[in-house]
Amino acid sequence: MLRVIAIDGPAASGKSSTAGLVAERLGWAHLDSGALYRALTLAALDTIGEGGRGTLKDMEGEGWSGPRIVALAEQLPVRLVLTGDVFRPEVAGVDVEEAIRSDRVTRHVSALAAIPEVRTWVNAQQRRAVAGVGGVVVDGRDIGTVVFPEAPLKIFLTATADERARRRLSQRGQVVDVDLVRRESQALAVRDAADSTRPIAPLKPAADAVLLDTTALTLQQQVARVVELARGLFPA
Ligand code: C5P
Repeated sequence: MLRVIAIDGPAASGKSSTAGLVAERLGWAHLDSGALYRALTLAALDTIGEGGRGTLKDMEGEGWSGPRIVALAEQLPVRLVLTGDVFRPEVAGVDVEEAIRSDRVTRHVSALAAIPEVRTWVNAQQRRAVAGVGGVVVDGRDIGTVVFPEAPLKIFLTATADERARRRLSQRGQVVDVDLVRRESQALAVRDAADSTRPIAPLKPAADAVLLDTTALTLQQQVARVVELARGLFPA
């Protein structure tokens, strides 16, 4: 039995926090697939123009293509490295876990993630990463539908856009006022729309996913629910 738990859902739905804590409770590893798309975006943006001031639009203008981005990823390389029980993103041997959370990367990542060759490459990295690891909780947008459709447990997390915006802001230590929530919620909606309407691997629940609306749940409650489902399914 494939020892993978797939956790998918829209931006800021708590996938990574949940996946990390579930992995900890089960003694499994955690792989955040979004981190690989983000690391690739950072690497691509940083190689365009003087001082990496370019955008993905500039890349298109300069003839960048899926194969070229994949070649860059191989050459640098961009990869996930298992450190303890967590896969951490690296670019050219440097840990980029913090750098990939910048607004610049967040603004461009969905465009890069819509490129077919990029998705094929990222999926192969993920499949290679989990091989040989005892159990892995993987979170993203297409883990249950495309990357590990045979995962015995698939969770699709949702929460209202306003609640997700509030969580994101308080995570960053920002004051959660009405205007900020509205602005953050709009930014999340733009990314969700891009991720849900792309032709390849759009964000959607797998037919056999467990839908978990976390709007009224605490992080500990949603973690407990997933751990309970996992304990019922995976032999210890
Ligand atoms: O999870 P996170 O918000 O960090 O993901 C960043 C972006 O990477 C998403 O908005 C999406 O465009 C892309 N992504 C994806 N498929 C995944 C994980 C992330 O397309 N499995």
